[in-house]
Amino acid sequence: MSALEPHIVDRDRKTGWIEVICGSMFSGKTEELIRRLRRARIARQSVEVFKPALDERYSEDEVVSHDENAIATTPVDAASQIVLMAGDADVIGVDEAQFFDSELVEVCQELAAEGRRVVVAGLDTDYRADPFDPIPQLMAVAEHVTKLHAVCVVCGAPANHSQRIVPGEERVLVGATDAYEPRCRQCFEPEPVPVERPRPHTDVIERAPAAEASAEADEAAARPADRADAEEETSPAERKA
Ligand SMILES: [Zn+2]
Repeated sequence: MSALEPHIVDRDRKTGWIEVICGSMFSGKTEELIRRLRRARIARQSVEVFKPALDERYSEDEVVSHDENAIATTPVDAASQIVLMAGDADVIGVDEAQFFDSELVEVCQELAAEGRRVVVAGLDTDYRADPFDPIPQLMAVAEHVTKLHAVCVVCGAPANHSQRIVPGEERVLVGATDAYEPRCRQCFEPEPVPVERPRPHTDVIERAPAAEASAEADEAAARPADRADAEEETSPAERKA
């Protein structure tokens, strides 16, 4: 059994379990979820994938990654719907799990008790670095936990935090990946801090393969307007000087 990924389901023994894939934004959680589910499919297991309906960053019916590994997924309004819609699937994936409420823990326990493999991916902390329910509870009851890291845009160290770089009190800005950047413990600041791009290591966001880098984030990062704005801001000052 690999440390990163448990062996595939033995259908005769009816042994289920829970795997949690967690980490900050841009750490590649969705990519890892897709990788595991694709392997299960190759092993001829039936796979169903769910995500919260509020995650409208991507197309309606698939978990999208940049490398064409998209897997069809079903948006659901509540965790309880997963039980109803899972059918006879051997393997059940859940993406963006932090947007479900605590009912998700019971749902995953129930599915695992039925002998299914449950793979859950989600943010383990919010932008203030506080544990993001229900991921901590899922980590506690899971058989396997994989914590992934992004790369700190400031210093290049492994990043465990999602730094908010636009003002606001909301816990979650859905679909606004350009409102965050990955940072390590040392560079992280709990209050949102406006930053000017490009950053020393911003290319880790632009090149984040599947990760949580959305199309919008890519567009925002690539948008020359950002740099044009910065130049405009400095120009008047330069003229004065
Ligand atoms: Zn750092």
